[in-house]
Amino acid sequence: MKTPEVLISEEEIQTRVGELARQISADYGDDSDLVMVGVLKGSFIFLADLSRRMEIPRTIEFIAVSSYENGSVSSGAVRLVMDVRGNIEGKHVLIVEDIVDTGHTLKYLIGMMKTHRAKSVKTAALIRKAEAAEVEVTIDYLGFDIGNEWVVGYGLDYAEQNRTLPYIGVIKPTDV
Ligand code: 5GP
Repeated sequence: MKTPEVLISEEEIQTRVGELARQISADYGDDSDLVMVGVLKGSFIFLADLSRRMEIPRTIEFIAVSSYENGSVSSGAVRLVMDVRGNIEGKHVLIVEDIVDTGHTLKYLIGMMKTHRAKSVKTAALIRKAEAAEVEVTIDYLGFDIGNEWVVGYGLDYAEQNRTLPYIGVIKPTDV
C-alpha cells in the first residue's frame, strides 16, 4: 500500500485536539462525574490525546460497534460488539468517536447510552463527512469537516492498516 497523502497534518490535529480539550473542560467543570466512552477501535488515539489534555476529573470506558465489516461502504445496520463494562447510570457521558459518516453509528450509540440511563449524553468526533449524512445527529465537539473520501491514520484504518500514522491521510482506490 502506498503512503497515504496528508489531508490533516499532525500539527493541525494536535492544535485542534487541545482546543477541544479546553472547551470540554470548561463546559463540564470539576464536579461533573464525566465518563468518556471511546468507540473502538478507531477512536483510541483521539481519546488518548483528548483525555490527557483535559483538566477535569474523568473516567474512561470503551464500546465497540461494527457497521462496515472490513469494507468501506456503510451497511446502515450497526452491531454492538462490546458494551461498556462500568456502570454509567446517572453519569454525564461524552461519546468519543473517530469519524461520523452517515451518522447511523453515532445515533445508535446515543440511544445505547440513554438505555444505560446516562444523566446526559454529548458527542465528540474528530472528523465529520458532512455530505454523507443520512441521519441527523448532533456533534457537540467536532474536530474537522472533510469531503467524501476514505481517510486513515490517527486511529483510523483501511482493512486494519495505517492506524498509527500521526496524521490523517487519504486513501485512493489506486493506493490499495
Ligand atoms: P457511520 O455510521 O457514521 O456511517 O460510520 C461511522 C463509522 O464508519 C466510523 O466510526 C468509522 O469506523 C467508519 N468510517 C466512516 N468513514 C471512514 C473513513 O473514511 N475511514 C475510516 N477508517 N473509517 C471510516
